Amino acid sequence: MTGPKPPVLTVRQLRKTFQGNAVLRGVDLSLHEGEIACLIGPSGTGKSTILRCLNFLEQPDGGEITFFGQYLCAEDGNSNIFRIAPPRVLQAARARMPMVFQHFNLFSHRTVMENVVEGQVVVLRRGRAEARDRARDCLARVGMLERADFYPDQLSGGQKQRVAIARALAMSPALILFDEPTSALDPQLVQEVQGVIRDLSAEGMTMLIVTHEMRFVRSIAHTVHFCEGGRIAESGAAADIFGPNAPPRIQTFMEVAHG
Ligand code: ADP
Ligand code: MG
Repeated sequence: MTGPKPPVLTVRQLRKTFQGNAVLRGVDLSLHEGEIACLIGPSGTGKSTILRCLNFLEQPDGGEITFFGQYLCAEDGNSNIFRIAPPRVLQAARARMPMVFQHFNLFSHRTVMENVVEGQVVVLRRGRAEARDRARDCLARVGMLERADFYPDQLSGGQKQRVAIARALAMSPALILFDEPTSALDPQLVQEVQGVIRDLSAEGMTMLIVTHEMRFVRSIAHTVHFCEGGRIAESGAAADIFGPNAPPRIQTFMEVAHG
């Protein structure tokens, strides 16, 4: 008997405090294979912190994260004990859910090719030849193969972000986390990066995308999560969130923030 597939990711009551400032106050969220979920909401409400906790760039303080059914952190409700999975489990999970950052985070003293090879060799322990082959494939997918020997400084912002996406793809990801991938770009470069993300969506890539680009959300998301006050305050199918019966606070957010 085969049931529905388990979620790629589940998050329950995720909490994170910075120096007494409770930024995440119990985040609940799940993501299924092939799903494109967008995380929207006002600045400072914890969207980046959610993504950073998912792949343990920040260590959560409480709650539960499972990735393909495996606990990355978990809490025993009765005893209040919070456990974090061993480093090798976290590292394996992190490699399979790479993050694409607003400011690209490429190594500036390495070429495009080296940027895409590095994580494969260091984290996945692939051989250099195999890693270079895969890097070529991934750079071709984002239209950057002919820039393989360039340094990041020689590229536009849109090109840098496409390289960062190729680097994520090279890790054979199960899920890609995007943190405002187009907000550092000049307006005319936004489309080329959104186009690459759209291509990935057509190929069935599972993605969790933080963005303020509402037209993009509307055109690409299956699910939309609205973050406010350190929680997911509303979640819904994109059609409902953008429809006439959208929750009032989401309507207000869209009107105020985006005309
Ligand atoms: P968003 O991405 O929704 O704009 P963030 O997750 O970046 O929000 O930040 C949420 C809150 O957490 C902000 O008040 C921010 O100042 C604070 N914060 C984020 N990271 C840190 C950190 N490393 N140390 C202290 N405070 C932080
Ligand atoms: Mg942010």
